[in-house]
Amino acid sequence: MTHQSTTHQPLLDVEDLTVEFRRRRRTPPLRAVDGVSLSIAAGETVGLVGESGSGKSTLGRAVLGLSPVHSGRIRFEGRDITHASPRTRRELSARLQVVFQDPYSSLNPARTIGQALAEPLMVHRRTDQRQARERIRTMLERVGMPPDTAHRYPGQFSGGQRQRIAIARALMLEPRLVICDEPVSALDLSIQAQVMNLLADLQKDLGLSYLFIAHDLPVVRHLSHRIVVLYRGRVMESGPAEAVYADPVHPYTQALLAAVPEPDPRAQRARTANRMPNPTATPTPGEPAFAGCVFARRCPLVVDLCHSERPHLLPVAGRRSSGDRAVACHRSTDLHPAHPPTPVRPTGKEAPCSDSA
Ligand code: ADP
Ligand code: MG
Repeated sequence: MTHQSTTHQPLLDVEDLTVEFRRRRRTPPLRAVDGVSLSIAAGETVGLVGESGSGKSTLGRAVLGLSPVHSGRIRFEGRDITHASPRTRRELSARLQVVFQDPYSSLNPARTIGQALAEPLMVHRRTDQRQARERIRTMLERVGMPPDTAHRYPGQFSGGQRQRIAIARALMLEPRLVICDEPVSALDLSIQAQVMNLLADLQKDLGLSYLFIAHDLPVVRHLSHRIVVLYRGRVMESGPAEAVYADPVHPYTQALLAAVPEPDPRAQRARTANRMPNPTATPTPGEPAFAGCVFARRCPLVVDLCHSERPHLLPVAGRRSSGDRAVACHRSTDLHPAHPPTPVRPTGKEAPCSDSA
């Protein structure tokens, strides 16, 4: 996919963002997003990937004003919206929209598709009834739905059709940025491809930007200009999509690319155990006081330093498109930059690590 011409000011600029959820008393808060920076230019798609629980949705929701931001800054169209008022949020909703994994969460089963699609227009009092009907018809057609769709209810459509409808609704007010939170993850593979193609076409026609969230890399490969790999709330690696796929630097990115569904229940349990909060007083990944690399316990290349010091996201030297690439890994420099390290085994296949390691 080619890069489109972009303006200098990013459309979305997230800077050193941290989101924390409170937990039980005397338990440190859960840091679901930990110092994440990313930006999206006009017309660009940034693929935000990482396994379940890595903080992708929390980050997307923070942009929408729905996550408890602890620190950092979110700018949209150059304006600080980190703690925007409900009124500003309403106004922003014309240009900043979202498509969720499950359209049932956004489509009221008791209202017709026409009513659902008219809603954003009414909120922004943009149009009269006739214009609204016309716009609804145009948008439904644009996403490949028949005209009579407007008179029917969400329950009468398949998952893929509902997702097309949700996309139409998100685009009613001609937004500039759409946050796509795993919009195809619940769909069959063939339907996934159709919806992804639709999103790509819409982007080309309308000059949209996407923050495209997915838990596996292949899904976002063709749509994304750039990739940001998140693990336990931190950016492990980022860079142009082609370069990251062709030559992943971070052991976690390599594992993601190699990942296959886990057939062995024992290894699956070990993975789950690895995500469990540590009952001792030692900070665990996801807690504010955690000092090391969050991937250290699963990393095949781990050294002592990884347990004690947080690796910063630094430019990658000597790699394809190295200018835009960054990785947070203590081992990235001593692993022969010109030659990618041997791919690691799929995640979860390694022996369970003890927490004292
Ligand atoms: P992802 O979308 O990558 O699967 P999430 O952003 O949903 O990950 O979750 C990141 C972490 O934050 C998880 O540990 C999750 O349990 C926690 N989390 C998400 N939302 C909430 C919430 N509303 N309250 C408490 N913890 C939450
Ligand atoms: Mg999610």
